Amino acid sequence: MHEQALAENESVGTRPGSSEAIGTHQTEEERIGASLADYYQWEDDDVFGKARAFSTYLASMRARQHDLYRRTLVSGSGHRVHIRDPFTGQVREMIMMASNNYLGLTSHPRVVEAAVRAIREYGAGAGSVPLLAGTLAIHRELEERLAAFKGCEDAMIFAAGYAGNLGALAGLLRPGDLVVNDILNHASIVDGCRMSGATSKVFPHLDLRALERILQRAQGQFRAKMVVVDGVFSMDGDIAPLPELIAICRRHGARLMIDEAHATGVIGAHGRGTPEYWGVEGQVDVVFGTLSKALGGVGGFVASTREVIDYLRIFARPYMFSTALPPAVAASVLAALDVIETEPEWRERLWDNIRYLTTHLRSLGFNLGNAQTAIVPLIIGDDYKVNEMARRLHERGIFVNPVFYPAVSRKLSRVRLSLMATHTREDLDLTLDACEKVGRELGII
Ligand code: PMP
Repeated sequence: MHEQALAENESVGTRPGSSEAIGTHQTEEERIGASLADYYQWEDDDVFGKARAFSTYLASMRARQHDLYRRTLVSGSGHRVHIRDPFTGQVREMIMMASNNYLGLTSHPRVVEAAVRAIREYGAGAGSVPLLAGTLAIHRELEERLAAFKGCEDAMIFAAGYAGNLGALAGLLRPGDLVVNDILNHASIVDGCRMSGATSKVFPHLDLRALERILQRAQGQFRAKMVVVDGVFSMDGDIAPLPELIAICRRHGARLMIDEAHATGVIGAHGRGTPEYWGVEGQVDVVFGTLSKALGGVGGFVASTREVIDYLRIFARPYMFSTALPPAVAASVLAALDVIETEPEWRERLWDNIRYLTTHLRSLGFNLGNAQTAIVPLIIGDDYKVNEMARRLHERGIFVNPVFYPAVSRKLSRVRLSLMATHTREDLDLTLDACEKVGRELGII
């Protein structure tokens, strides 16, 4: 059951591991009803057999114009993008409603200028892993800045957010420990827990009673305990109730770790994330975040006590064995933090856009679940309609992502929109108009 629950939340392309093995031959009807998970466990005595089967699934998706993955941008990731249309081969403009560039900082002049200066000063790459010869002064500056931004004693940076979660979890947890996850935690958390060898348990999304029951039953059975939640959940866009989570963890002697990928720069009066939003800064044991979303770059960070960070610098394998972040990225993220601290208007514009789009989508009759932030799911629960909605929005010039099992459970498949500070009212009105038309055509609203 636990394995099943984790599998339900794994992102596209990771190891679903839960579906029954299926045979080598599929009819077109079976392919239409299949999910990506079906091609993980595939009975074939050739290791390439699953790829062969998957290629027929992809071909069938493409024939229906339902394969919207990897649409290629020929411009930066702004509110309007130019893409090479996969169906016509033509370059066309679209409204980007699927980027994590929440504050539009990937192209902010101060951010771009800082990256250019750093390349001139340090060159393109860091040249080594951080522990050996790859720690540059600009990396250390960024770590100190992130620690201060998150109200922690110290922080360390990773070349990818995914690697940061893996490093923190597998670095801190051991076989015999217990880690308890919200079912909607990100795939990198699930993978980090697996890699650690600790026992993992999951609770239904934000069901704090269920969490408490798990911790009660675990008493005396495990050595050390940790609870992990996304601060802002990447599929639902809702916010974890940190004050209650902190209290539960204290009652049961468990550490609390949060994933601030979608919260950093977005929520809290100064954009410092979920602890600031709830007024509990300094009370979360381990704060993970990405540099790749509102901060406009790439990479991840972990912030905690000085002792924990010193330990993880040696025992977090993705830190120990992977080359340090390119200096231009460290410089651009430092500039992005400057912008977040000195130009609050970007966050204010983002929040105006969130309020405008979500209010109108809800009044049109879309089911947004409990969305509270820049991630806006249109929950449909029917894979065919989700694919059709994404395809028809694509035709109308709106770039959105369809999301299915195993990224979310089958009954909650959805189209996911992401807002940016740089979206204009015209972008949002055109998006609303297209969603309304397509939603009515498909009987979703
Ligand atoms: N955590 C969450 C909640 C995420 O959404 C993501 C990215 N999709 C990550 C971690 C991994 O971050 P990155 O893309 O920077 O590797």
